[in-house]
Amino acid sequence: MAAHRTALITGVAGQDGIYLARVLLERGYRVIGTSFSLARHFPYLQGVELIAFDIRNTDAMSELLRRERPDEIYNLAAISSVGQSWQMAEKVAEVNGMSVLRLLELLVRLRDDLGYAPRFYQASSSEIYGMADQQPQDERTPHYPRSPYGTSKSFAHHLTVNYRESYGLYACNGILFNHESPIRPARFVTRKITRAVAEISLGMRDQVTLGNLDARRDWGSAADYVEAMAEMLQQESAQDFVIATGEVASIRDFVAIAFEAVGIEDPWAHVEFDAAYLRPADVPQTWGRADRARSALGWGPKVSLREVVAHMVQADIVRAKTGIEECRGYMFPNTVNDALGLTPATHRHECPSCAAGVAN
Ligand code: GDP
Repeated sequence: MAAHRTALITGVAGQDGIYLARVLLERGYRVIGTSFSLARHFPYLQGVELIAFDIRNTDAMSELLRRERPDEIYNLAAISSVGQSWQMAEKVAEVNGMSVLRLLELLVRLRDDLGYAPRFYQASSSEIYGMADQQPQDERTPHYPRSPYGTSKSFAHHLTVNYRESYGLYACNGILFNHESPIRPARFVTRKITRAVAEISLGMRDQVTLGNLDARRDWGSAADYVEAMAEMLQQESAQDFVIATGEVASIRDFVAIAFEAVGIEDPWAHVEFDAAYLRPADVPQTWGRADRARSALGWGPKVSLREVVAHMVQADIVRAKTGIEECRGYMFPNTVNDALGLTPATHRHECPSCAAGVAN
């Protein structure tokens, strides 16, 4: 069914863009991806037609849409770090907020001028809920963001709803709760922990320094969650969906699970606290209820947090041993094994995931 369909993924070089591109390519789409910067993620993006521009460049986006006319647009371009969003609040508002407004405006114009009406997915976020009283959170929970990041995502979320209702666009928000993978950047606490645990298990370091250990998150697997994104654009009509596991763990729990994965029995001997990692305001708990996705999309999480953590630690052990930071083999548990046991010198030639000749 998807044959000859074209998808545009903005922010394709991020964790979700990489996993989503895989799913769409497997479904037979032609995939075009934009990113502000492409270099780091080339190994992951084989088969994607890459274009580099800043999502704030509306002229470039307009030209791209007029030329390629994708059937589906997945808007994943964003500054994704909650923790860093206070240091660049204005840029976060521009990139995560105003760019979405400009893109929606463009879609209305293109429809009116050309009769061209792609389906539009907006990467909303559980961060829109922040301090919301309601637990667990679903599509009806009022927003109470706690950071410039959450606020920018709330703005974009409301605009997406508003343009759907005002102009009849097929536009929907995917309200994804935290979702992790071995290609999550280490500025996120999960990857920071798994990398440290891998290195500690190999005797390469002794400590990891963290901030608030009491925060609780509903953590899932990025590979699972991108399937839901793709499904959201295949419905009869557009609506918004929470994507979550419904299970919650604290940062403290995450630390314990990660150390357990490498058989270290006393994790707390290796953990230090530094107030520098505390935020001006934090979200004490995210907890999602994905009932709507379950019934309308037939979507449910397939991978447990324990499995995600084990996979991340495994990939970080390979990274630490080989010094090779980016390899397609890290993306899935079965292909991490392909990369195991290879020395740095032989990895490039012998790793089945890299054998296609991609420079990494
Ligand atoms: P977020 O849920 O999108 O903000 O994802 P993060 O992984 O950045 O942070 C999750 C939680 O971990 C937040 O409540 C942070 O305050 C907490 N946390 C504790 N220590 C750290 C740390 O060293 N780095 C980061 N990024 N977060 C930390």
